[in-house]
Amino acid sequence: MNYVDLLKRYNLKVTPQRVAIVQELNDYGHLNIDQLYNKMVNKFPTISLATIYKNMNAMIEKLFIQEVKIPNEKSVYELSKEQHAHVVCEKCKKIEDVVLNTTALMSEAQSKSHFQINSSAFVFSGICSECSK
Ligand SMILES: [Zn+2]
Ligand SMILES: [Zn+2]
Repeated sequence: MNYVDLLKRYNLKVTPQRVAIVQELNDYGHLNIDQLYNKMVNKFPTISLATIYKNMNAMIEKLFIQEVKIPNEKSVYELSKEQHAHVVCEKCKKIEDVVLNTTALMSEAQSKSHFQINSSAFVFSGICSECSK
């Protein structure tokens, strides 16, 4: 994946820090801000948490990166992709994507609430296959 082109496609200024953030998120899928900071410090020893937040906010604003809110855990961040739900392991805290068809659920929510539903977010928790061995 060409991270420089990807940043440009979202009208984002290309900096080595941003390229590195995108690379980490692409490698790991989902990272919270502390995990991201720890990885970034390896590459940029003088980088501050504030700088990472600033860069993240710019990329979130352009919808290039999305925040995933996990109940009772820190939010994680991921590169925007096809709409999907998340499964979280209660033991090892691993987070994975699961592509679900939520169209029926969203239209049920809409007809029962009389809201115009625009988006949805689903987080399922349980025990992953490795932890249940
Ligand atoms: Zn697990
Ligand atoms: Zn995800």
